[in-house]
Amino acid sequence: MAKYVYRFSEGNKDQKDLLGGKGANLAEMTKIGLPVPPGFTITTEACRAYMRDGHVPPELRVEVTMAVREIEDAIGRRLGDFHEPLLVSVRSGAKFSMPGMMETVLNVGLNDASVKGLAEFSGDERFAWDSYRRLIQMFGKTVLDIDGDLFARALDEKKTAVGAATDVDLSAEDLRDLVAVFKGIVQDETGREFPQHPREQLDMAIEAVFGSWNTERARLYRRRERIPNDLGTAVNVVTMVFGNLGETSGTGVAFTRDPSTGHSGVYGDYLANAQGEDVVSGIRNTLSLADLEQLDPASSAELRQAMRRLETHYRDLCDIEFTIERGKLWMLQTRVGKRTAGAAFRIATQLVDENLITMDEALGRVSGAQLSQLLFPQFDGGAEKELLTRAMAASPGAAVGEIVLDNAQALERTAAGAKVILVRRETNPDDLQGMIVADGVLTSRGGKTSHAAVVARGMGTTAVVGADAIDVDVTKKEVRVAGKVLHPGDVIALDGTTGEVFLGEVPVMDSPVMTYISDGLEAGLAASNDDATRELVEAVDRVLTHADDVRRMKVRANADTAEDARRARQRGAEGIGLCRTEHQFLGMRREYIEHVVLAQTPEDRDAALTDLLPLQRQDFTDLLGAMDGLPTTIRLIDPPLHEFLPDLTELAVKVAVAEEKGQVDEHDVALLAAVQRMHEQNPMLGLRGVRLGLKVPGLFALQIRAIAEATAARREAGGNPLPEIMVPLVGSVRELQIVREEAEGILAEVGREHGITLDLPIGCMIELPRAALTAHRIAEEADFFSFGTNDLTQTTWGFSRDDVEGAFFADYLENGVLTISPFETLDADGVGALVRAGVEGGRSTKPHLHMGVCGEHGGDPESIHFFHNAGLDYVSCSPFRVPIARLEAGRAAAMAGEDATA
Ligand code: ADP
Ligand code: MG
Ligand code: MG
Repeated sequence: MAKYVYRFSEGNKDQKDLLGGKGANLAEMTKIGLPVPPGFTITTEACRAYMRDGHVPPELRVEVTMAVREIEDAIGRRLGDFHEPLLVSVRSGAKFSMPGMMETVLNVGLNDASVKGLAEFSGDERFAWDSYRRLIQMFGKTVLDIDGDLFARALDEKKTAVGAATDVDLSAEDLRDLVAVFKGIVQDETGREFPQHPREQLDMAIEAVFGSWNTERARLYRRRERIPNDLGTAVNVVTMVFGNLGETSGTGVAFTRDPSTGHSGVYGDYLANAQGEDVVSGIRNTLSLADLEQLDPASSAELRQAMRRLETHYRDLCDIEFTIERGKLWMLQTRVGKRTAGAAFRIATQLVDENLITMDEALGRVSGAQLSQLLFPQFDGGAEKELLTRAMAASPGAAVGEIVLDNAQALERTAAGAKVILVRRETNPDDLQGMIVADGVLTSRGGKTSHAAVVARGMGTTAVVGADAIDVDVTKKEVRVAGKVLHPGDVIALDGTTGEVFLGEVPVMDSPVMTYISDGLEAGLAASNDDATRELVEAVDRVLTHADDVRRMKVRANADTAEDARRARQRGAEGIGLCRTEHQFLGMRREYIEHVVLAQTPEDRDAALTDLLPLQRQDFTDLLGAMDGLPTTIRLIDPPLHEFLPDLTELAVKVAVAEEKGQVDEHDVALLAAVQRMHEQNPMLGLRGVRLGLKVPGLFALQIRAIAEATAARREAGGNPLPEIMVPLVGSVRELQIVREEAEGILAEVGREHGITLDLPIGCMIELPRAALTAHRIAEEADFFSFGTNDLTQTTWGFSRDDVEGAFFADYLENGVLTISPFETLDADGVGALVRAGVEGGRSTKPHLHMGVCGEHGGDPESIHFFHNAGLDYVSCSPFRVPIARLEAGRAAAMAGEDATA
């Protein structure tokens, strides 16, 4: 029988699947002796059972009874007791942290009787009534689904009525009145009384947490973060401790080191006489941990001790929630903390230097996505800027855009192509849509741990928070700052690394990390204008160098011109995995192809092809020069011919008009006939790739001759050209065999002409299911394979990418058919199975057959891990992504077997 309830003393940090992140870490803290209030975790399995059956499993009720009684016995207090009531919080906690996504109910166990017990026991009547009104408010909103504004409004009315500036100014009397009002709201809205029985409150709250797994907000967040919908959440039931028992109590959040610089030293926000979310909600301005040291040296010392303990134990930056109840420290939550991209690299190398982790482990602490963030341009330090204010730098980057004040404006302006900055007093989960489309987020309240900061960091969106010099007036649609009145549509610029906010457009420039990637460490350091940036460049260099040392897969680039190739090489590309020759036939040269198509006789066609030869030879000579000494895979012409010909409709109209006027142009008429003849219903599945090469004699031959002659020329010039000839869209070994025979003939001939041997590798793309499935046959004729995962995805799914992405991908992501576009991240189950089959088939014929991938997936972190595990020798990606692929290939090797996405 399933066990649905785990005491904190029973679990550990590795049980996140079962206990959720929060539960697993509460158990771990309990295990290492930190002061965690007694409690237990209801497993995600119970939530899954609830979702499946529509009710909680009956055994769960029994197990909860046992666990509650154990707590009651341990601390000598009872749920609902008239004298010393036990109160608990009911907290959600899924495997992956979902900030603000699911609500927590505090103070469960209070009712009309126990509120008096609480007053008596705490000696603080005001506190007791405040706790009760919080329970009704949170319970009403989260469990009973009552509009939270009703409570908020009643609270505001009460404050106005008695002239209280903040919540703290309300007296016990006021709060007792408020409880009556709140109970009235519950009665009016639900038609029943606020549940008085503590166990009923507890059961209802547990069920509500289960239910909250499926709210709109939670689903939206999961979709963005690609968290599966069927994991379910755990529920933590935790003995309440009170930060709102007067000035010697308080609540706070902290990091074991600075989450944006990585510098060691504790870091956090504290609020005296407060409970729960007060500290991050921005309702009152918070104190720093240094202030806490002044206020309560003993608790502060204990807190530092606990944080050091956590950092040693987890060997990583941790963030925590804590509460001090009358001078006694309680730990309420910890997890390995989120951090900015720059901090991730710096923290990783700092931990290596502190001998807490190895360099291999350091690779597990950073990601390609983080590296790519660091490659983004930044504001030009030398440019004229008008500073509006400086506040907390919460999430790095440089964002320039129009002010918008809400989701609707954000969506409307971005749909119209504008870049926007979402400006709010503070954000909450309802602002998620606006945050997603915005380039930057600016808030006037809240700290580095506020909702805006945490969510923006998670999304990689630039954010500046807590800019209290800014007055956001949503009613008047105004933003007042530095004596100016700004309106939606006015342009501002945010520097998420310094916290600066500027008026108007600010020019952006390359990041020093990008300079390092392209021009080396010296240049990167020279481009850094402060110590923090220099540290970052050094950290990236150390981590990336280690990745290069440990990775098995080579990283090549997709580049069509010598210039692109040079750029890729600078960034560390170890070859070209894909040179698309068709790009060389566009523009001015399109007419040559037209001649090839229009040729009436083989002689005419050969003449047209002959004209192309010197041009192609020059392209390849340049490319091979740029890539001297490195393998350079040149793909023979791939896309359908009609792409090189004029548009059918346009040409038809032109010819019709000309005929009307009696001015018939023979060339146009012939061209039209050809275009009509070649028109295809499904060009993607039509005459292209090797099919075209076999259909139009001489086309591939020309390209192969150009490659051969360019190779000869480079060798004669003392170079070391290493071209590889790649045949696209092969489905049958016979196709490759025909091309190969012809190619070998040409290579031999050119070799003879130049007195050299031209033994160039000839291989093919594996981009059709049939090629993957018959790879053992195709390997007989191939010197290498390159998986073309774009076309392989199209042909495996039967998707025409250009048609489906706009038509229904949004729906498919919405309804969960897809969790991410298979064109972005390789569909490991489907397309990946064909890749594996291709690898296996190919190597069964030739055990050392060289294999790589040249689809866009070659630059996608998750896909790179797949390719490593599938046994490929290299990935090839766009030049910009080369450093990311180097890092991820290194991570894949260092983390083999671990879940790199966790
Ligand atoms: P979230 O997942 O949104 O962080 P939590 O479950 O951590 O939600 O709880 C919300 C707030 O309530 C936090 O500030 C937390 O520290 C506080 N809290 C939760 N349980 C208790 C408790 N038993 N005693 C005091 N405060 C609590
Ligand atoms: Mg929390
Ligand atoms: Mg293709």
